[in-house]
Amino acid sequence: MRENRFFKTLSYKIPILRSLAAYIFVLMLIIGIVPSVIMRIGILQSYEERAVTLRISDVTTQYKIIANHLLNYNYLQDTSSDVINAELEQMSNLYDGRVLIINSNFRIVKDTYAISEGRIMISEEVIKCFKGESTSRYDQKSGYIEMTIPITGQRPADGEEATEVRGVILASASTDSIVTTMDILSRKALIMEIVMTIIIVGIVFFFSHILIRPFNRITQAIREVKDGYTDEPISVPDYIETEHIVEAFNQLLGRMKVINDSRQDFVANVSHELKTPMTSVKVLADSLNQQPDAPVELYREFMQDIAEEIERENKIINDLLSLVKLDKTEAVMEISEVDINTLLESTLKRLRPIARKRDVEVVLESIRPVTAQVDEVKMSQIFMNLVENAIKYNKEHGWVKVLLDADHQFFTVEISDSGIGIGQEDYDHIFERFYRVDKSHSREIGGTGLGLAITRNAVLLHRGSIKVSSVEGEGTCFTVKIPLSYVKAGGNG
Ligand code: ADP
Repeated sequence: MRENRFFKTLSYKIPILRSLAAYIFVLMLIIGIVPSVIMRIGILQSYEERAVTLRISDVTTQYKIIANHLLNYNYLQDTSSDVINAELEQMSNLYDGRVLIINSNFRIVKDTYAISEGRIMISEEVIKCFKGESTSRYDQKSGYIEMTIPITGQRPADGEEATEVRGVILASASTDSIVTTMDILSRKALIMEIVMTIIIVGIVFFFSHILIRPFNRITQAIREVKDGYTDEPISVPDYIETEHIVEAFNQLLGRMKVINDSRQDFVANVSHELKTPMTSVKVLADSLNQQPDAPVELYREFMQDIAEEIERENKIINDLLSLVKLDKTEAVMEISEVDINTLLESTLKRLRPIARKRDVEVVLESIRPVTAQVDEVKMSQIFMNLVENAIKYNKEHGWVKVLLDADHQFFTVEISDSGIGIGQEDYDHIFERFYRVDKSHSREIGGTGLGLAITRNAVLLHRGSIKVSSVEGEGTCFTVKIPLSYVKAGGNG
């Protein structure tokens, strides 16, 4: 764990440790070079083993022949034979080594170096050899092979088959020629390896760059979108991986486009909606100005209209401000335990004068007392908007019924009316900003087209839902469902 963190910190300090191209480069380099190194070492080693084995068998064969000569000349008892001495000298020179002849008393009868003659020689190898077993030992460090060869003769007493070891030849041979060949081979192999490494590094460098090129292309394409040269979906289909990145990016781009389009629409709508009352005010004021002797009654009437238009403008601005506040995802929710029955009663009380004006009867029916954790101001805004709409879009002598109910998790408020109704095709649209089914009718009765957008946002901030069902010409029913306990987004913080 600590090592992992250490590597992370280190990789942030040394950016190349986080480079995919560097990883590909190193990986391909290892795959390219390691086998050739292993092969070089393996081949040299097996050459050495084979050359040493051949040398041992070669030397052993030679000395076996000499062993026979030794017996023939009775050399173990008398070392004066010039022929044998010359033969031993020649062998010792040929193999650049020393030869010792040891008799059955372990005494050295001949030493080609003439140092140890007459001495006793008891060693593991010599004893083994007296038991009839040739031995050989390769000393790589000093570059010598050491061998023992038994001098075997027939035992006169036991007939033809029986043999006995009468002496031992202890010989050494230099492996200089093998070492020299090895050196040459190893140097050549090393040169080849260096050349190969240079070629591999070149190829690997080239490919590691080619392999990550699609990622650079993605970066370039995203940069172009960022810098505003294009807003078209990008396409880098080289790898499945790059395709996934591009797909995710294009989805993000699509979402941003939708957000941008809706923002532009919103700005256009806002400007238009704010301009309408201003235009009316201007028309009214101009027409008064053009009639210098207009009667006071006309002035009064027009001034009344101007005041209404200003009031409308005010309403739109207030609604816009509420909407903007609710639009912020982290809109501040002031949650408290609220008595929903009381809240509904006070909302209806405030709306009764408008209802009375339109001769609409408003009834509240509560199945049970409900208290819930809600933002009181926002909840009141929800009820206000829905009940006000139910009154506004009603008929003469119509009714509005508000029904409050709850279970152990949610409370529901149903606001039904006997009004003009909404066509099914408009169900989704009525919650959009500035959408009005019948623009002129809505404006006539003081609508801004923002009420339901505000309502829906406020409901969503309470993690609730809002549904509409309606029959055109008969009436509409809005159902709001809100959790009794407030749950913060993400469940933490
Ligand atoms: P407005 O300010 O125009 O009332 P809203 O966002 O509150 O804007 O409502 C959007 C539109 O939905 C209204 O213009 C109206 O056409 C329709 N609408 C809303 N409530 C009702 C209802 N109870 N009955 C019929 N139509 C309704």
